[in-house]
Amino acid sequence: MAAYEYETHDYDVVVVGAGGSGLRATLGMAEQGLRTACVTKVFPTRSHTVAAQGGIAASLGNMGPDHWQWHMYDTVKGSDWLGDVDAMEYLSREAPQAVYELEHYGVPFSRTEDGRIYQRPFGGHTTEFGEGPPVQRTAAAADRTGHAILHTLYGQSLKQKAEFFIEYFAIDLLMGDDGRCEGVLCWKLDDGTLHVFSAKMVVLATGGYGRAYFSATSAHTCTGDGGGMIARAGLPLQDMEFVQFHPTGIYGSGCLITEGARGEGGYLTNSEGERFMERYAPTYKDLASRDVVSRCMTVEIREGRGVGPNKDHIHLHLNHLPPETLAERLPGISESARIFAGVDVTKEPIPVLPTVHYNMGGIPTNYWGEVLNPTEDDPDRVAPGLMAVGEAGCASVHGANRLGSNSLIDLVVFGRAAAIRAGKVVDRDAPVPTPKKAAIEKALDRFDSIRHAKGGTPTAELRLEMQKTMQEDAAVFRTEETLAKGLERMNSIAGKLDDLSVTDRSLIWNSDLMETLELTNLMPNALATIAGAEARKESRGAHAHEDHPDRDDENWRVHTLARVNGKVELDYRPVHLNPLMGHNEGGIDLERIKPKARVY
Ligand SMILES: Cc1cc2nc3c(=O)[nH]c(=O)nc-3n(C[C@H](O)[C@H](O)[C@H](O)COP(=O)(O)OP(=O)(O)OC[C@H]3O[C@@H](n4cnc5c(N)ncnc54)[C@H](O)[C@@H]3O)c2cc1C
Repeated sequence: MAAYEYETHDYDVVVVGAGGSGLRATLGMAEQGLRTACVTKVFPTRSHTVAAQGGIAASLGNMGPDHWQWHMYDTVKGSDWLGDVDAMEYLSREAPQAVYELEHYGVPFSRTEDGRIYQRPFGGHTTEFGEGPPVQRTAAAADRTGHAILHTLYGQSLKQKAEFFIEYFAIDLLMGDDGRCEGVLCWKLDDGTLHVFSAKMVVLATGGYGRAYFSATSAHTCTGDGGGMIARAGLPLQDMEFVQFHPTGIYGSGCLITEGARGEGGYLTNSEGERFMERYAPTYKDLASRDVVSRCMTVEIREGRGVGPNKDHIHLHLNHLPPETLAERLPGISESARIFAGVDVTKEPIPVLPTVHYNMGGIPTNYWGEVLNPTEDDPDRVAPGLMAVGEAGCASVHGANRLGSNSLIDLVVFGRAAAIRAGKVVDRDAPVPTPKKAAIEKALDRFDSIRHAKGGTPTAELRLEMQKTMQEDAAVFRTEETLAKGLERMNSIAGKLDDLSVTDRSLIWNSDLMETLELTNLMPNALATIAGAEARKESRGAHAHEDHPDRDDENWRVHTLARVNGKVELDYRPVHLNPLMGHNEGGIDLERIKPKARVY
């Protein structure tokens, strides 16, 4: 057994993560009078939420008529009928209130002439149940919405006396004999000390796992640590095969180039200089939908027509556009291209690649954020003492595909819901559970064995192998063959976790050790993704399966559950089809959200 000393801390609630969802949960818990700690591996306002520009969806109706039921319909359709109806109703119904709360907390939203919150149009958001014109539903604070939300929620949480443990890395959940989560083991990065946080409720708000792929718009910190901890606790991950790709991330850095670049007349070319989208989508060409464009780019690369020395990316041309247009309409893009690709967009094309942007799958929860540990008899069984919110969770409101600006609203609606629920189920007077010695030792042993790993494979090398495999085989465009090959390759790559080499043995600012812990978290997320994709014999939302091009509601309108313990064990649970409110009580007419073909 590894001999480590650790400090102990007792709280009613410990939130792991200080992005939009973690901060909204922390603030809400503290407001409920619960003694709350928030543990985060990066400074709160450096969480990936800070990068969100576009905005946050809610049917405020400030720019024209809107209704929560229209938002719900768009979300159901966007999810390609895989989302849980109760959760999607809760999201769209509670969204306006959650945005007004943000406003009152101090988020500096952009304003209309008459002082109301400004809202802009976004893809997939419509009126009249998809039959009316597009709606302006996305509230924004200029192009810094995530930034504004994070700073506001952090300030409010401090005001409510929530306690922050910043640059503490959560290693593992501490599970009791009865399956209750009793706390979490953490490593303080700047002084090397270890900490056991005991809590009546642990909330995972650890964000997505974009970094399982070679090219992702997400921060390097998005390593699916919550999913890794869940997998090691023997709990399942849900719908992991659904990964959203954006066609134009900058090659290498993955930094996002907005769709607006093609809106202004930009176009894509292959190694032959051919404007290939004309061949695939004669009408909309480069402005076909995101998944279509991403898929065509991938075909070009696969068939050997990628650009660059490794023929592994595509060119985006803006250089034919008048320099004034670029300066006026796309100044941010011009700057990103210069910084991240060394390209002057007035003269040269930008190297781009379909880039992982969002994880629809995650830790299964109900619409209160309570983590589920389904059994055959009870697919909605709650895992006691554990919640998950934000991109780490899967409530599931995004189903097989998320609409733009629906993530930020998910963060605050479900962060808030988790706090309301915890306010009811956490007994403030009960003693804080004492995590079992055996659970702490198990977590410490894993930590110690990674710290002293003396194998032959450097972490960065294995990570790159995983990222390239996921990029190639669990891509936008999937076939029986690529998925089967990918699954085999990923199993063999995951096998090499036993052969890792960590060279730095210290405990202070040891980025080698931290990145290795993160790799052990990325791996189960990646495995669940490719195994779920390999098994799903249909196309739905972001899962575009060439050999099974149609959606198959009869067999596949189900949530995938993946338990990952070395290998992946798959299971399924039913999608929630019933709304919370009956039609007579003002709820949605079920006829409205019956499955049909998804065309825009
Ligand atoms: C470039 C970009 C632009 C986007 N734009 C929009 C947009 O305009 N609108 C929209 O709706 N969505 C947008 N999204 C999606 C949305 O921003 C994210 O899904 C969302 O911000 C995720 O928030 P989160 O709270 O779940 O996690 P994050 O903001 O990713 O935060 C995760 C937190 O967990 C902590 N953490 C993780 N692991 C550990 C660990 N082991 N120990 C301790 N702490 C840990 C981190 O320190 C961090 O505080 C965008 C995403 C990207 C990448």
